[in-house]
Amino acid sequence: MPTSAITDARLLLDEVGAFVYTTDAAGRYTYANRLVLELLGNPPLAAVVGKSFTDFVDVGAAGDALRETDLRVLRDGETLAREETSSSRATGELRTYWSIKKPLRDAGGAIVGMLGISHDITEKKRLEDQVRQQKELLDAVLDNVQGLVYVKGANRRFLYANKHLATVFGRPVEAIVGRLDSELMPREAADAFWEKDKHMLATGQPYAGEESLVDAAGQLRHYWSVVVPWAGFDGMPALIGLITDITELHALKEELRQQAHSDSLTGVANRRSFFESAEREFARSRRHGTPLSVVAIDLDHFKQINDGHGHPVGDTVLRGFVLCCQRLLREEDLCARTGGEEFCILLPGTDAEAAWAVAERIRTELAGCALSPEHPALRVTASFGVTEMGAADTHFGPLFSRADRALYAAKQQGRNRSRLLRAGEAVAVASGL
Ligand code: GH3
Ligand code: MG
Ligand code: MG
Repeated sequence: MPTSAITDARLLLDEVGAFVYTTDAAGRYTYANRLVLELLGNPPLAAVVGKSFTDFVDVGAAGDALRETDLRVLRDGETLAREETSSSRATGELRTYWSIKKPLRDAGGAIVGMLGISHDITEKKRLEDQVRQQKELLDAVLDNVQGLVYVKGANRRFLYANKHLATVFGRPVEAIVGRLDSELMPREAADAFWEKDKHMLATGQPYAGEESLVDAAGQLRHYWSVVVPWAGFDGMPALIGLITDITELHALKEELRQQAHSDSLTGVANRRSFFESAEREFARSRRHGTPLSVVAIDLDHFKQINDGHGHPVGDTVLRGFVLCCQRLLREEDLCARTGGEEFCILLPGTDAEAAWAVAERIRTELAGCALSPEHPALRVTASFGVTEMGAADTHFGPLFSRADRALYAAKQQGRNRSRLLRAGEAVAVASGL
């Protein structure tokens, strides 16, 4: 190489931001760039050539290892690339280098020296450590929150999943990241989620709502799901999902709903719930032109049962009465406790005559029914008021009032009987069927 070209190359090597040097076969410098000279305390190049690193820097105990490394290159012809740590001459702080040491050979292949290049990677390492620590912190937080967290790309593949989500899917986190949603949950559920996801990705609008999904153990679970569109890794659109398992809350809500709608003593519908269902059934029967009947029931002389046997026996009798009715009713019939010892039965698709027959069947059954196990001989009778939806009835209210008037007539006429009051009739009669 002409001298000017060598000078140019050396000027260039002074600017590469790495330590560059060459040595002879004994490890003595034949060239060192500006950074190496600075490291050695800024001697001129001429003062360095022919000398070794250890002539300038006291490496202490690390000297043997350094010599051994150089031997592997100079004696054995190995090329080494690895991380090295040494303390800065100026500040004494430990710095990390990525060093490459490569043998230099002559035309005959004999090792004549070594080329060394070292990059100071201390800052890069510090940043990598910082990123790793931040990731560890984030993982610790996300794996310990009581929720499911995921990131999903616009290609339907999961980019992140926390431990809780992995448990729900019944696979390790590594088996979720990179997978399509449809590979991890039933196709139908995945497609339904994807429809929502697409909308969010298109509009950038977040979503919050309830979702249900069968988990890996086959249990139906309920979730409160918040999904937020995110610019994503490398600017690729993605969605962040933050999901709270509300299965227990859901069950509690359902239990409370049940409690609000049912009678705690007998378990059948309470008065309020009965009227709500009856209004709905009334509208449905009207729409379909099908009959609808009601039987209002009041136990006879019930006060005497309480007075004679005590309130708890009275309660048992009320429960027993409900069981007796339910045995004789169809699935679609609705039995409710509308008051203390008052009950009502809604019979969809049933005309007055059939409803009358139901009332009489219950009344007859009661005569043979021991309602209290402690008092097998104890019997209770009841009075029944029966009516059917008429053309003039505008809603369930008039129908119920008519059944109640029929029941009153049954009581008036001696109890333990059924009375039928047809729409438009003023007086309830014993059905002359
Ligand atoms: P009638 O034949 O005229 O209907 O006479 P009755 O004694 O059944 O009528 P009344 O309305 O005077 O009495 C109803 C009784 O029902 C009074 C009340 O103590 C009793 N009762 C109401 N709710 C309950 C309950 O939850 N448990 C019990 N054991 N008794 C109840
Ligand atoms: Mg009563
Ligand atoms: Mg009564």
